[in-house]
Amino acid sequence: MGQIVRKIYLHWSATSYTWARPGSYHTIVLGNGTVRRFTGYDQPISKHTYARNADSVAICLACMGGSGWRSYPPTEAQIESMCQEVANLAIRLGWQPKDITVKRVLTHAEAAANRDYSLEAARKVSGWPLPTSTPQTEQYLALARQLGLPHENYGPSHWFDGWPGGFVERWDLWQLKPSDRPGQGGFTLRQKIQQYMAEGRSPTAGFNTTPNNRLRSCPVYVGTQLIGQGMLLPDQRCYVKFSDLARAYQLELVWNNPFRFVNVKTDRYQVKYIADVPLFRGYPAVDIYLNRPMDEDGQPINDPEFPARPFMQGLVIEGATYVMIADFCNEFGISLRVDPNFSVYLEGPSATPQPPTGEQLPSPNISQPELPKKLRDCDIFSGDRLISRGALMPDQRCYVKIADLAAAYNLGLRWNSAYKYVNVLSDRFRAKTLPNSPIVPGYAAVDLYFNREEDSRGNPIDSANPNPQPFLRGIVIDNVLYVLVADFCNELGISIRVDPDFSVHLGAA
Ligand SMILES: [Zn+2]
Repeated sequence: MGQIVRKIYLHWSATSYTWARPGSYHTIVLGNGTVRRFTGYDQPISKHTYARNADSVAICLACMGGSGWRSYPPTEAQIESMCQEVANLAIRLGWQPKDITVKRVLTHAEAAANRDYSLEAARKVSGWPLPTSTPQTEQYLALARQLGLPHENYGPSHWFDGWPGGFVERWDLWQLKPSDRPGQGGFTLRQKIQQYMAEGRSPTAGFNTTPNNRLRSCPVYVGTQLIGQGMLLPDQRCYVKFSDLARAYQLELVWNNPFRFVNVKTDRYQVKYIADVPLFRGYPAVDIYLNRPMDEDGQPINDPEFPARPFMQGLVIEGATYVMIADFCNEFGISLRVDPNFSVYLEGPSATPQPPTGEQLPSPNISQPELPKKLRDCDIFSGDRLISRGALMPDQRCYVKIADLAAAYNLGLRWNSAYKYVNVLSDRFRAKTLPNSPIVPGYAAVDLYFNREEDSRGNPIDSANPNPQPFLRGIVIDNVLYVLVADFCNELGISIRVDPDFSVHLGAA
């Protein structure tokens, strides 16, 4: 069952501006204002806000890493994006601007200080000495609960209004800039959220979706067949009715009403999870999942440890769900051409490449496949040994068969056909798991994990690492899995040099 959202917590990540990965927060807002939603708001996540994770949502700004204010202070773009995203969620929850109080929308600094409880109650759990061990933390938690509070005060040391100080374990968004009054951050954010809510509801603000007022319409063709009319919206991107696309590509769409998400049911496609959330005032973005697990009554099966991840978001306009056409094509690996007159041409479903099937990875020994879209070959050397021939793809980067790299560096490879990923096994290397996705239009992407735990039947266990991340994504070219050689080397710490003749020289095994 889905959760009922009672509180929204606002965080910062203590990272650079580009940090974004699933597991800890529902949504992360990058330094440039891009919004990435990793978990639908109807699902709980188990570890964002100490002792407060149930029935709540966590939204995080990627910032404040390095030396904090001097390296990555919160940017204006990301603050505005976060407030707009919270406003859209609040509207969807049926909240009014007057409901945006510290009882419902809190910075982590405020949550840590129990600012949603009475001053009298908060005082009782403040001023405790810093806990230095887990047993002490447990004891604090028990004591706080006896006093009717979720936890001790582990927040900032002081506040402009004299609220009691804590031992400063968390101070997320206490201020938005160093010149703010101590503790001003949450107050400023709530005011902005209220403004966005008010503007979003106004009939003249945001964008107007009546057919006469969108920028223009764009006819959408699949192959030679006209399948619908998209609309160019004020972000100058073309949005198309999802049901028109689903019909053309034979995707089954299931609309879940109580929790407002769309489930795409198909075994013909994989998606890449790279789309950003489209942000429009007053238009909550609807999560779209691929094959989300559902029970017999059509309700989602949720697991706070392994929340299902939407691959893109749609906008509900005049009662229909629209998706950005470029995102849709990118996710599904469908090639796309937009003409100067804004007609959109999509590759037909029959030409879509399929993921590899069968229990084994395709053999590394099959003859060199034809790669019609590659720019050229590149010889790949490990030390002075030629180990493979790579393909320079239209993104001007060199891709190499993972099987050849695995053979050269003694890596085990297991194709998990049930879960459609590749497990790379080695105890000689470590992977850094830097987020990155190759996007080569028309090619399906496959996740590669490093030493992912599996049981004897090949099901992932993931007990040691509850939020396993793929360390690489490959692309399937003529049924063979290729990876970007630079990413592979980066991940495993192998040196790489590319010569002007495009030969690639890797550190010896
Ligand atoms: Zn936090």
